[in-house]
Amino acid sequence: MQKNIIEVKKISKTYTGDVKAVKNVSFEVKEGEFFGFLGPNGAGKSTTMNMLVNLVKKTSGKILIDGIDLDENPDEIYKRVGFAMQEVGLDEVATAREMLQLHGRLYHMPKADIDEQIKKLLKLVELEKVADKFTSTYSGGMRRRFDLALSLIHKPKILFLDEPTQGLDPHARQLIWGHIKQLNKEGMTIFLTTHFMDEAENLCERIAIMDKGQIVTMGSPEQLKKKHHAKNLEEVFLKTTGSNLGNEEINKNAADPYTRARG
Ligand code: ADP
Ligand code: MG
Repeated sequence: MQKNIIEVKKISKTYTGDVKAVKNVSFEVKEGEFFGFLGPNGAGKSTTMNMLVNLVKKTSGKILIDGIDLDENPDEIYKRVGFAMQEVGLDEVATAREMLQLHGRLYHMPKADIDEQIKKLLKLVELEKVADKFTSTYSGGMRRRFDLALSLIHKPKILFLDEPTQGLDPHARQLIWGHIKQLNKEGMTIFLTTHFMDEAENLCERIAIMDKGQIVTMGSPEQLKKKHHAKNLEEVFLKTTGSNLGNEEINKNAADPYTRARG
């Protein structure tokens, strides 16, 4: 039996102005699992993910990461998690190598460890050739891959990714998915949000679909298709959220300043 590396018990988030973004959500993720969060814009995916890494303070409920209570020992949790979030910015006047070195030092890693990890990560995300160029010169796809490397410097057990392929062309997207798949194969637990249905269906072992702050259905892609009498995940999505995916992408760009800034 694999253990639950993430345990979420009845968490809620109410933002100021009485915006109930997440309502009483519970779920578990097993160690080594590839877990996906889907849902229309504004469903509460980012809020949920941000609560798990303490970027957003939960209003109520309980979060255990690797058996550790987030309220009791957040520092121990930071050591175990890496995250690449929608709104994280890049330092424009540093090279990838410099940024990776800095982050390694922030995690108090020994220099030899940092150097070894940088070598491994630059290879993984295929940025060896541009490692000593300013990150401001990178394309969108390169930036996302660099974000990914940065989130991995301290060898986290769990990787949180919020729309890691948003705004990328199909080739750049393929590269990112390949890297994430490789990390998962090596044993890392992956928790991601995406609205690419086909990719979620191919990659995720288990998927939770969120709508209006609640999980409306959860299971393996096969289970979901069976349960909702659907031929693919997109149909499951439509049946459970009533959202049209085409519209969702348009709304997303209009309504989400984080995403727009990230482009
Ligand atoms: P998703 O990631 O699924 O698109 P979010 O978690 O970003 O959804 O947002 C869920 C809801 O919470 C939305 O109604 C959004 O407008 C609101 N929200 C998100 N962040 C804030 C914030 N900082 N303050 C107030 N409301 C917020
Ligand atoms: Mg979001």
